[in-house]
Amino acid sequence: MTTQTTASAVDAPVDGPVDIDHVIDGEVLVVPGADRLDVDDPATGRVTGRVALASRDVVDTAVRAAATAFPAWSATPAHQRARVLFRFRDLVEKAAPRLAAIITAEHGKVASDALGEVQRGLEVVEFACGIPQLLKGEFSEDVGRGIDAHSLRQPLGVVAGISPFNFPAMVPMWMFPVALACGNTFVMKPSEKDPTLSNELALLLREAGLPDGVFNVVHGDKVAVDALLEHPDVEAVSFVGSTPVAEYIHTTAVAHGKRVQALGGAKNHMVVMPDADLDGVVPALMGAAYGSAGERCMAISVAVVVGEDTGDALRDRLVDALAELKVGPGTEDGVEMGPLVTAVHRDKVAGYLATGVAEGAELVVDGREQTFDGAGYFLGASLFDRVDAGMRIYREEIFGPVLAIVRVGSFEEALRLVNEHEFGNGTAVFTADGRVARSFVSGVKAGMVGVNVPIPVPMAFHSFGGWKRSLFGDHHVHGPEGVRFYTRYKTATVRWPDGSKEQASYAMPTLG
Ligand code: NAD
Repeated sequence: MTTQTTASAVDAPVDGPVDIDHVIDGEVLVVPGADRLDVDDPATGRVTGRVALASRDVVDTAVRAAATAFPAWSATPAHQRARVLFRFRDLVEKAAPRLAAIITAEHGKVASDALGEVQRGLEVVEFACGIPQLLKGEFSEDVGRGIDAHSLRQPLGVVAGISPFNFPAMVPMWMFPVALACGNTFVMKPSEKDPTLSNELALLLREAGLPDGVFNVVHGDKVAVDALLEHPDVEAVSFVGSTPVAEYIHTTAVAHGKRVQALGGAKNHMVVMPDADLDGVVPALMGAAYGSAGERCMAISVAVVVGEDTGDALRDRLVDALAELKVGPGTEDGVEMGPLVTAVHRDKVAGYLATGVAEGAELVVDGREQTFDGAGYFLGASLFDRVDAGMRIYREEIFGPVLAIVRVGSFEEALRLVNEHEFGNGTAVFTADGRVARSFVSGVKAGMVGVNVPIPVPMAFHSFGGWKRSLFGDHHVHGPEGVRFYTRYKTATVRWPDGSKEQASYAMPTLG
């Protein structure tokens, strides 16, 4: 094994890809002869990187580095851990344009969207900078005569994060700032489709003064993930990705005695009431459905429209808006929607368009008809109308620029539809009626709810997570739930001897 400095997709020479390697114990680790996977620029189809795939041995090296770093890091006072994060926050802010360019080069999303995800990640770092306050316990004086009690939260040890392709900066930053602030050490396994961002963040953490071994990055596929799930020194696993994998991660990690939070897929509904202001609904729906080419776990993929007239009006307005939507490379000015992440994924999404037509839905705008120059993984935006709950295009997560309109007769029918779907990540209602909004917030079975807000992603000081098959485990991520997930709770009951004689007592102590 040898070390080198990091390289990224934006540095890739036009004549060949760069190697993307692990970052372990503060160094880039090159494993000669390691298996590698291509990393593409989705806007051009060009291979820009070759990411190393970690073996079990490499994962073990990373976990051992994290385990070695744990005693000193966990014993570092919380306010000193926070100072490292303060410096990291400033470094990420300065590096944001470069980080966003890497995201666009490996993921394809447009530049403003990439910058936005770095910002959302930074907000979690800012939250984690308040860790001395967040870790404060509770104290009770005189729980018995001369006896006090207090509670404290302590770090778990080595924790692992496994992230999806669609937010290569934000999702890792949902996890590690809180975990590190709480005193844990971390092994990150980012998506193999856009792996470079985690390396960049690791190097910025080092520059901020994080001791070696506290944050490590291993790249890879199922082999690396399984090695983390089964490693005896990994105490907890945070996962974000598709539902089948989330369920597998949860089952396997629990079977190996770990704490786990596994966030899965989604099918987010927006209920549009007849009194909703369509001037607000249409732009909200366009951004929420087609932003990031629909590759967001909080994308709206179903508009549940109450009433035929509302349905007709909304459909017409969406058709007009779609005619104006600018699709192209994320680096180009004015482009609103970039390519899909891979050719395979683009073809899968296009396959759903054929499925929807075969199932009897009305394909009002067919993204396959839009043509693009070059070899990028582009697909135009699509709109289905008259979709029903039995169709695969309604039941399954498509994760692409495809919006389905479902027409219902009443608010109650709309709410029932949302609640009967297997996913329960985010949802929204657009209405001018406070009572309808209140019933929706109270009665809907989803983890994140918007009222006239299409993508209700909670701020970092609240917690993010879904219900039903959108989350496996007990804790949501970041915010107070993140602090709970990454710490163990302890209560101490304390008496100092006062010279009085103790009698053995065989009854349950009552401290009276
Ligand atoms: P994915 O499940 O394919 O991959 C996620 C991670 O799991 C990657 O790091 C990948 O290497 C690993 N992985 C993939 N298959 C595996 C297997 N069989 N065994 C072990 N590990 C495996 O997800 P993706 O395609 O990268 O991301 C898109 C999905 O993530 C969508 O379903 C989306 O809804 C979901 N997502 C959910 C949230 C949320 O907060 N609920 C946020 C972002 C993305």
